[in-house]
Amino acid sequence: MSIALRTLDDGAWISVNDSRQVSVSDVWTLTTGTFCDCSPAYVLLEAFVDVDVDGSIVVAHAVGQCLECGTRDSIERLPVGRIVNDDFYPYDPEDVQWLVEPDGERP
Ligand SMILES: [Zn+2]
Repeated sequence: MSIALRTLDDGAWISVNDSRQVSVSDVWTLTTGTFCDCSPAYVLLEAFVDVDVDGSIVVAHAVGQCLECGTRDSIERLPVGRIVNDDFYPYDPEDVQWLVEPDGERP
């Protein structure tokens, strides 16, 4: 698989194959307990720190803030999209996201 992943513009974008694909300005909906106690948590991302691919899932390391309770923290493994046949398919930020477990387990 030859996917080029990187962050651009001081973490404002995730670039896939030299094309800006995911903007940091979206509000991501996270399932309860992954970020704070809100149910669900609406997290406004501030910056992408890093990006990686886990199997076919593109996971971002980001910093964000909950719009409800104000918790500001890092998000270790936010799934932002999938790679299918070397093409990138972004997830909808409004869908509730589960964080990808580092040991490869899937919910
Ligand atoms: Zn919260």
